[in-house]
Amino acid sequence: MSQVPAALSLFCGLALAGAFFGAQVSASAAEPLRVFVSVLPQKTFVEKVGGDRVRVEAMVQPGDSPHTYDPTPRQVAALSQADLYVAVGGTFEEAWMGRIRGVNSRMQVLDTGEGIALRRWETHEDADGHDAGHRQDHHDHAYGASDPHLWTSPPLVKQMVLRIRDALSGLDPANAALYAANAAAFSDELDALDRDIRARLAGAAGSRFMVYHPAWGYFADAYGLIQIPIEREGKEPGPRALAALIEQARRDGVRVIFVQPQFSQKTAAQVAAAIGGRVEVMDNLSPDYEANLRRVADALARPQPVPDRP
Ligand code: ZN
Repeated sequence: MSQVPAALSLFCGLALAGAFFGAQVSASAAEPLRVFVSVLPQKTFVEKVGGDRVRVEAMVQPGDSPHTYDPTPRQVAALSQADLYVAVGGTFEEAWMGRIRGVNSRMQVLDTGEGIALRRWETHEDADGHDAGHRQDHHDHAYGASDPHLWTSPPLVKQMVLRIRDALSGLDPANAALYAANAAAFSDELDALDRDIRARLAGAAGSRFMVYHPAWGYFADAYGLIQIPIEREGKEPGPRALAALIEQARRDGVRVIFVQPQFSQKTAAQVAAAIGGRVEVMDNLSPDYEANLRRVADALARPQPVPDRP
């Protein structure tokens, strides 16, 4: 009697083992590409192009600033298994890119900002009434020389998508047609997003908006708006610069000051209180890329009376 269950359990054990190894073999044949990106919006872009053929992890986690981020030991270790690193340039990568490359010589590095004309950070000298004596030391290592927030411009994201498509196809040529189809579909979505933003901002051409951390410069450039940052080159304004900013906000009829969750909101609240305006959260690092940009366009389209300027 006891031989039947034993035989049965041996059979079941073998069947399970067979199923297990079978699954392992097919899983490894279809193993997704392991991709690391700098910031969450890029994770969305790579997933749009790669679909279930990629497993993507962002270095900068929700709530962290890309400018001062330090990859965790676990992330550095995980890089040794990566096929592709999609860099944005600037940010923490200024200090870290050498180490990131050093972890894994097999890993391909794609710089999505390459070939794109980078805008320079607004400096303290750009703002009216800012005293030259407040000049900051430029090229703070965490900030780099130019503005890295390329992903806030849908037309620039379209260029990045082509590079992502090419990089994935190079690593996995068998699925090149899939990557090409996905990239074309996402590119169409970005065109629709671009048209939507233009329609929403139709009446806002040339208008100015104030932000704490200047993350929206490429968005502003793409849609004919002007960003007035409170923080410049990573520094809080001093008392004189702050007074000048409040004066400028009054003159420009600024009603809303945008902040993002990763940065201090104290100075923005101070300026808002001084001009009787309000503080609103706009996060350029949201992984919900398209809905987020539509929300931003809506916020900027709301009427903000601009008095005549001399
Ligand atoms: Zn930033």
